[in-house]
Amino acid sequence: MTKEKERVIVIGSGPAGLTAAIYAARATLNPLVIVGNQLGGQISITAEVENYPGFPETDITGPDLVDRMYRQAERFGTRFEYDEVIEVDFSKGSPFFIKTNGKEYEAESVIVTAGASPRRLGVPGENDFIGRGVSFCATCDGFFFRGKDVVVVGGGDSALEEGLFLTKFANKVRIIHRRDELRAGQALKNRAYANEKIEFVCNTVIDEIVGNGMVNSVTTSNLKNEKTAQIDTDGVFIYIGHYPNSKFLVGELVMDEHGYIIADEKMRTNVPGIFAAGEIQDSMYRQIATSVGQGCAAAMQCEKWLSERE
Ligand code: NAP
Repeated sequence: MTKEKERVIVIGSGPAGLTAAIYAARATLNPLVIVGNQLGGQISITAEVENYPGFPETDITGPDLVDRMYRQAERFGTRFEYDEVIEVDFSKGSPFFIKTNGKEYEAESVIVTAGASPRRLGVPGENDFIGRGVSFCATCDGFFFRGKDVVVVGGGDSALEEGLFLTKFANKVRIIHRRDELRAGQALKNRAYANEKIEFVCNTVIDEIVGNGMVNSVTTSNLKNEKTAQIDTDGVFIYIGHYPNSKFLVGELVMDEHGYIIADEKMRTNVPGIFAAGEIQDSMYRQIATSVGQGCAAAMQCEKWLSERE
């Protein structure tokens, strides 16, 4: 296979990747974005985005924001390859080897923005009923639960935000959380408490997701009084956090114990010429706004690194 030669490859197409592409393209670096399995990453499955600056009147949706970022990157000449990276070799330094399902590349520099993916509960029934009642995406699947009862698992911002979104369709939304204190921010808590369709089931975990072709209930345990219960439900929406999509980089870049890439304040990894931005290296903020900032910084540092080599 002949290797395609690139100056900058951006791995991933979430807010960090698309911002890095905008900056790299405006710096005439002619970047190539390897999109991954979903253009836009996690925001493409986010219902409303209320805290990204610049949209005061309207609740912009995740897909709208992706579309705007994508078109802006494209306008300055970014190219997009709809494929996934399956192998890299950074060990020999620049140019770096990158392999996707369809092509092989040699890249002078790389900006890694492969993001993070939703964590799973790991209980019986979860994998069996994905697409048949179990979902990680209220935006995608909420519509199918019109007039039905659903449960949402988690106590963070995502669980509450998506739980609120589901009240547009569902009859009843039970938010099952393992503690009695929510992790979510006050604004979302206030909105959730005020919503009559939402009920909180606290100190509780799901032991099994049960169904017959489609989900029809979950069995639960109360962690305080150890009582078990069965809750009838048509859907189970799981929002219990994320893990970084860094498996393909193991042995190539230095990571922490959870697999997050270690990058410094200039978004530099341990390998000169490889930069990282967004959730693959950020387990703390994980906001669209912070990912955008990191993507911008990574592209600026990348441009500097390339020009200093010449
Ligand atoms: P998160 O903040 O990490 O919350 C995950 C929730 O899942 C926690 O309540 C956690 O319980 C629970 N959990 C974790 N593992 C579990 C398990 N095995 N079984 C049952 N429950 C489990 O994740 P997130 O809500 O996806 O948010 C991620 C980041 O994005 C956060 O920084 C958040 O602020 C941000 N975000 C912001 C917005 C917004 O501002 N509008 C919207 C979405 C996300 P514990 O609380 O007991 O640990």
